[in-house]
Amino acid sequence: MSNTTPQKFEFQAEISQLLDIFTHSLYTEKEIFVRELVSNAADALEKLRHTQLTEKEVLDDKLALEINVTTDDKAKTFTIQDFGIGMTQAELIENLGTIAHSGSKAFLKAIGEGEAKNTSLIGQFGVGFYSAFMVAKSVRVYSRSWRTAEPGHVWTSDGSGSYEIEASEGERRGTKIVITLKDDAADFATDWKVKEILERYSAFVSFPITLNGKRVNTIQALWLRNKKEIKAEEYTEFYKFQAHAFDEPRLRLHFSADAPLAINALLFVPKDNTEKLGFSRLEQSVALYCRKVLIDARPKQLLPEWLRFLKGVVDSEDLPLNISRETMQDKALIEKLNKVITKRFLKFLEDEAKNHLDAYNEFYAEFGIFLKEGAAMDYTHKDQLTKLLRFESSLTEKGKTTSLADYVTRLGSEQKEIYYLVGPNRAAIENGPYLEGFKARNLEVLFCYEAVDEYVMNNVREFDGKKLTGADHADVKLSDLPKPEGALSEDDTKKLTGWIKDTLGERVAEVKASDRLVDSPVLALNADKMMSPHMRRMMKAMNKDGAEAPLRVNLEINPRHAILKRLFELHTASPDKAKLVAEQLLDNALISAGLLDDATAMVARLNKLLESM
Ligand code: ADP
Ligand code: MG
Repeated sequence: MSNTTPQKFEFQAEISQLLDIFTHSLYTEKEIFVRELVSNAADALEKLRHTQLTEKEVLDDKLALEINVTTDDKAKTFTIQDFGIGMTQAELIENLGTIAHSGSKAFLKAIGEGEAKNTSLIGQFGVGFYSAFMVAKSVRVYSRSWRTAEPGHVWTSDGSGSYEIEASEGERRGTKIVITLKDDAADFATDWKVKEILERYSAFVSFPITLNGKRVNTIQALWLRNKKEIKAEEYTEFYKFQAHAFDEPRLRLHFSADAPLAINALLFVPKDNTEKLGFSRLEQSVALYCRKVLIDARPKQLLPEWLRFLKGVVDSEDLPLNISRETMQDKALIEKLNKVITKRFLKFLEDEAKNHLDAYNEFYAEFGIFLKEGAAMDYTHKDQLTKLLRFESSLTEKGKTTSLADYVTRLGSEQKEIYYLVGPNRAAIENGPYLEGFKARNLEVLFCYEAVDEYVMNNVREFDGKKLTGADHADVKLSDLPKPEGALSEDDTKKLTGWIKDTLGERVAEVKASDRLVDSPVLALNADKMMSPHMRRMMKAMNKDGAEAPLRVNLEINPRHAILKRLFELHTASPDKAKLVAEQLLDNALISAGLLDDATAMVARLNKLLESM
């Protein structure tokens, strides 16, 4: 069929509808048409490569498999040529004239569902060939099939209801699309503009892309290569390029999965946690690719919030070919991807913790805060995340940590709870009054140094059937210790606690002999069971309700301590002085708990006590 008179065709009704949207679109990111045409060209080259494997006779068999883009800012044209599979006349009609073969189908479906005015949808879909009409006055498609007997044709349209096809002599194999740009889209005829777009969307396309004769894509889609053949430097180079980073990645996970979805992913943990350094909150930045073409550099739902520190690429190239790109925008599919990747990454961390302890601990020191966030907020992954948490404890050396699982292996059979204490650092917790009762009973206590820890522990609630319990919570019950010699008798202790309660009045809710004090004279427990002293401090720092409620504490005294024994004598012999001592003991306990708000009264009292030396 090589008639030289142009034949005129009407577009299918749906195509006309699409064209109408694109030609009149005010959508700002018109540049995605470049992505669409490059991806079509790459598809055509890929198809040719397959064809060459099975067909003996292929037109222009020696032509390089590449994509050439040229711009002409005088003529205001944008041209993209590939030496791919090409199209016969029948294919031109079928592929570019009917919706059946267009990636725009899903887009049209979505706008059919009442979102016609919502042009923001354009960027989210693989809208396909017709997106060219966002920028085109007219489009010419020169194409010649790989089949040697087929002549070349040129397909022409200005995007109104019809197109023309006529024979075209001298075409090589493949497709050349020439776009004459609208005046307001003339930028796309400039080298700088097109270069920037190609670098963004098509950096990893595996066929060489040239722009005005210069190669633009030189980085390989490393995630699709065999792990065993990739050198560490290549990974680092890729990371720096893809994440716009300057550091070396701390950890990397390169994996592919076949079920339930075909995924190739290459994920990196950067060296530093920039949020910790005080930079702004990170944003999810693992990019989503489909067969090496960028779909979305920052797909928000691809990973859970707490994985926002990850860098890298997720690609769905191995998806069966009938799942087309627009399906990738499907929410359910993104959710599935999210599930698979998150699970795999958590498994990776578990393995790291097992096999590369030092690397894991260094990672944890930097990024552990994100795992805590996940453990506290992401119900789906809470259990796996809780296993990954690490804490110093009363049984570890300074700087060494334990997991909750290891803690549990050390517990005695009667211990039903996992204890923790929150404080600014190890020394503060070790020197405070709360730990000693646990130490005396050989009960391990986890040490928590971060502001969020109390919140995390409260949300995680339990591990392996053991409740996570603050060692400074008022309702912790500890077993009896043998009474050492020389303690106040039970009777005397009762008298003393009664007197202290009367003396301190409203400031204390309860005064009792402590089962957890060994060396310290007193300690204060928040009378509100739900709120530990640390929690109250935090609420106060955040200026939250609850902090301002009048402070009432339970005061526990140590009947073995010399001060209390002395106080017992003093409270009958010299009640005025004893009152000062009791008040001072309460303030001391509040200071240890970090609960003393105003020290002025205390200083005056101390001075009075010192006078009586
Ligand atoms: P999709 O790529 O999702 O199929 P498009 O609207 O982008 O949808 O393209 C429609 C069809 O046109 C393609 O499926 C393909 O058959 C054909 N086509 C587009 N560009 C080319 C090309 N450069 N070479 C060969 N065929 C092409
Ligand atoms: Mg396409």
